Amino acid sequence: MKLLVIGGGGREHALAWKLSLSSRVHKVFVAPGNAGTALEPGLENIPITSIPELIEFARKEHIAITVVGPEIPLAAGIVDAFRADGLKIFGPTQQAAQLETSKIFAKKFMQRHQVPTASYMSFTDAELAHQYIDQQPTSLVIKADGLAAGKGVIVAQTHEQAHSAVDAILVNKDLGTAGCEIIIEEFLQGIEVSFIVMTDSLHILPIATSQDHKRLYDEELGPNTGGMGAYSPAPFISPDLHAQIMRNIIDPVISGLRQESIRYTGFLYAGLMITEDGHANVLEFNCRLGDPETQPIMLRLKSDLLTLIEHAINGTLDNADIEWDERAALGVVMAAHGYPANTRKNDVIHGLHDLIDQQKNNDNFHIFHAGTIMKGTEDNEILTAGGRVLCATALGENIKTAQQNAYKLIEKIYFEGYQVRHDIGYQGINYQEK
Ligand code: ATP
Repeated sequence: MKLLVIGGGGREHALAWKLSLSSRVHKVFVAPGNAGTALEPGLENIPITSIPELIEFARKEHIAITVVGPEIPLAAGIVDAFRADGLKIFGPTQQAAQLETSKIFAKKFMQRHQVPTASYMSFTDAELAHQYIDQQPTSLVIKADGLAAGKGVIVAQTHEQAHSAVDAILVNKDLGTAGCEIIIEEFLQGIEVSFIVMTDSLHILPIATSQDHKRLYDEELGPNTGGMGAYSPAPFISPDLHAQIMRNIIDPVISGLRQESIRYTGFLYAGLMITEDGHANVLEFNCRLGDPETQPIMLRLKSDLLTLIEHAINGTLDNADIEWDERAALGVVMAAHGYPANTRKNDVIHGLHDLIDQQKNNDNFHIFHAGTIMKGTEDNEILTAGGRVLCATALGENIKTAQQNAYKLIEKIYFEGYQVRHDIGYQGINYQEK
């Protein structure tokens, strides 16, 4: 069977790699992929990103199922377009993806279905937004309504910061049409976790829990990024809390979508804040898997991913069995010089080929690529080509050991100006050692 994975980041490398391990799969195409997917056995990159060309490719190659990684093609309606052509694809439609593509849609949806989330007001008028800020507590979160590649959320510690965020988005239009409307949200304190499920719109299959690290520097300092590392499972999610999240958040969202005649097939990601009183609140929804959470999650997944996706497409997820490696997995992102503000490209990455050889016979770690390209010379040099470059991911008996194993991998890789956090997993480790 031939499959197609859409995207070129670490999440897509992990998904395509995992799919290629299925005994029924003989080729996974990745569009457009990266150097990691180019070098992975069983995968092949195709340099296509436009939806009509992807449809033509899927037809010509008799692709059995297409799996969509990132939000941009979902927002552009790739699922609707493939289905209209009679092609099988895994992911939510453009309408269903609004849970991610419009924060105001998501907030109103949560209100309609009593899903716990921070209180908020929405604004198109900067003057009214400024007046509202002056009546609120000091810490606030300003969010652009639309997709802004992680740049649309400003956590303001002072009113001054909140006012300038409003001006930047609503007056200066720094984020273009994504910022035509904003929400000003209550600041929530607590532990952030990622809670991901698969759904066929009727049945729900929870995926292993995980935690991302958004800030660039250790100890949650520096600017927000796409994510500098992640691990799974998140030990703060006790069986009781897991049940609370399913009951108060996931079940009402999936049944709410059905009530509103929105058919949602795909992964649904809830970014949650667990407040001190032990309650989970939704910070955001993503209509796809998280990056880098997918990398440790795929390393822990023992079941055949293709079979799970087939169940979701066929509406039989209630019959799916999902099995996890009991060990923890942890991924550390190596980011390019200057990321996230001024990412530098074309730095030569050293040490990768040995690791790529070793991981062919070792299931305990994997280097997932994101912003990498092959130089196209005989020595197969690999260059940086994006902000987040690699995610070195390793298993371990607990989070601490997985962390040590992942950082040992990082020591073997070098490119000029690389940036890593040194504390990925610290909250989970502190919790386990308590
Ligand atoms: P992503 O890159 O995951 O798509 P995004 O741009 O959609 O992110 P959010 O996840 O909504 O943005 O917010 C980014 C970060 O801002 C969160 O991970 C969290 O750390 C912080 N944040 C968002 N909302 C709140 C809130 N109400 N209280 C406290 N922190 C918040």
